[in-house]
Amino acid sequence: MGEDVEALKRRLPLIEYLRQHNWKGSPVGCSEFVGLCPLHEETRPSFYVNTRKDVFYCHGCGQGGDLIRFIQLSRHLSFRQSLACLDPQTTTADSAAVLELAAAFYQQQLDRYPEALHYLSQRGLHDPVLIKELEIGYAPGGSLRRHLTAQGYTFDLLRHVGLLNAQGTDALYQRIVFPLHHGEHIVNLYGRSIGAAFAHRFLPGTKGGLYAWEKVRNYPKVILVEGLFDYVVLRQAGFHNVTCSLGTHLNTDQFHQLCEGPRTVYLTFDVDANQSGQRAAEQLSQCLGVHGIAARRVLLPQGHDPNSFFVAGGDAGQFQSLVEAAQP
Ligand SMILES: [Zn+2]
Repeated sequence: MGEDVEALKRRLPLIEYLRQHNWKGSPVGCSEFVGLCPLHEETRPSFYVNTRKDVFYCHGCGQGGDLIRFIQLSRHLSFRQSLACLDPQTTTADSAAVLELAAAFYQQQLDRYPEALHYLSQRGLHDPVLIKELEIGYAPGGSLRRHLTAQGYTFDLLRHVGLLNAQGTDALYQRIVFPLHHGEHIVNLYGRSIGAAFAHRFLPGTKGGLYAWEKVRNYPKVILVEGLFDYVVLRQAGFHNVTCSLGTHLNTDQFHQLCEGPRTVYLTFDVDANQSGQRAAEQLSQCLGVHGIAARRVLLPQGHDPNSFFVAGGDAGQFQSLVEAAQP
């Protein structure tokens, strides 16, 4: 953070911020303005801004506070994220905030599009609790730009983060969206096409570490899969020691995570006709061995990945037998 909260508020008084966001207030007395409340629907103005105290209060919804509080409420951000939004020095923090908002928006869309729910069920994902836990969403395409620019985000920032294409249209279009976290921050979004478009898409930048690594790092046995739909069916089947590398090629962070402590890694990559999944598993297994980490290769039936194995009727018991039969 480039400056402290008080300095930041002196630089940008609340009334200035509101005006920049198209709020119109009429003067009342010498240091107050009143207008329609941006935080709730209303037709008669009950939102007051006191410019001397630099605070607001709404008699309609009862909300009140300073600039930071207003940003928290209007953009659904934490205190820390709201500060980051205001600091011109931190495009990175702004990018993180905008990814949070995009992910939340996509999550809200999921239930509104039957084709998205149909796709999830076709891929064997039925558990609403898991869908919520993983913050899975749907990008219909064509509505994110409007949603985020209405909240004051600039076209340039949205382009920078990669949420918009050069033409200014939503980058994620008809895709199931998984937010990818690093620690508590979202660092990227993964979009799986539900239509004819190229299957996998990430925003520019890092895909982060192993998926949901914090949940599995203490297990002595870890199952590693290459796709998020492999991950979800295993989680749904009751396997908690699963993580995902989002592809067969691990980045440096992901590799180091696996090597953090003594453990056995069960590599469960696709068994496809061209053998690419198995070759990758073999190579990774050797690299892990060099670093003192035991690796086993779980052999699924020909032509299967964990997702198709469960979708085709495989169950937790059968998968467990494959894990137990895994070879070095
Ligand atoms: Zn209000």
